[in-house]
Amino acid sequence: MGIRLCIKREDLLHTFVSGNKWRKLKYNLIEAHEKGHDTLLTFGGAYSNHIYATAAAAKEAGFKSIGIIRGEEHLPLNPTLDFAGKNGMVLHYMDRSTYREKASQDVLNQLKNKFGRFYLIPEGGTNLLAIKGASEIITENVKKFDYLCTSVGTGGTLAGMIKGMRGSRNIIGFSALKGDFLTSEVQHLLQLADAHHLDNWQINSEYHFGGYAKVKQELMEFMKDFEEKHQLLLDPIYTAKMMFGLFDMIKKGHFKERTSILVIHTGGLQGRAGFNI
Ligand SMILES: *Cc1c(COP(=O)(O)O)cnc(C)c1O
Repeated sequence: MGIRLCIKREDLLHTFVSGNKWRKLKYNLIEAHEKGHDTLLTFGGAYSNHIYATAAAAKEAGFKSIGIIRGEEHLPLNPTLDFAGKNGMVLHYMDRSTYREKASQDVLNQLKNKFGRFYLIPEGGTNLLAIKGASEIITENVKKFDYLCTSVGTGGTLAGMIKGMRGSRNIIGFSALKGDFLTSEVQHLLQLADAHHLDNWQINSEYHFGGYAKVKQELMEFMKDFEEKHQLLLDPIYTAKMMFGLFDMIKKGHFKERTSILVIHTGGLQGRAGFNI
């Protein structure tokens, strides 16, 4: 079919703060430092790549870190939380109904009373500074491809890439979540980032395989096959779903002959441990 597919290895940015999480944390850590903070506080599920990355980044940059984890404590700790704890992150568990209200002033005040002053990083790390960091994925070489693909969770990485591309080429986000709400979420993020006029992007939400962190045998077989063929690891939650979706679109003739596609490998390989792979 004559389609050229290349991969930008953001997963190699850092051993522990891999991929888009490094991009999203960069300016937040600079801001925290400039505002005189010594503690970072953030939120995530028990297998969160963002929790893992924040713990490692905080340690390396000399911050204390607090991770507010959704749900109850399970011992022994899973590999993600074990790593976070060993990197000095204080783990605090929050019941699911309070967790849903975590951005409310009420819950934040409770956290301030408990932990004192902290620099707040939202769940998944997505905020305006994260978008600024993610826009740096776009270099001159990236702009040479016809299409750019990434996996989408909160949409911060996609929003940053859209901003960085400034309207050139086509950008496809592959949703790791079930539902269509991410398009309006990314539109909202673009508005925050003064980039809502850019519309050369779309989100494909057909390849979620049942929803966030859900997998199917077909996906796991594709991933294993891909990894063997290309000697390149993926993760079942994000990058494997994106790659499956992209291969399927290519097979179905979505792209013209001689199209060039650049896929962003957003990292997340620590998540493999949660699937015993
Ligand atoms: C967190 C994550 C994503 C999603 O990034 P968002 O900015 O939240 O959309 C994609 N891929 C990997 C590997 C991730 O860890």
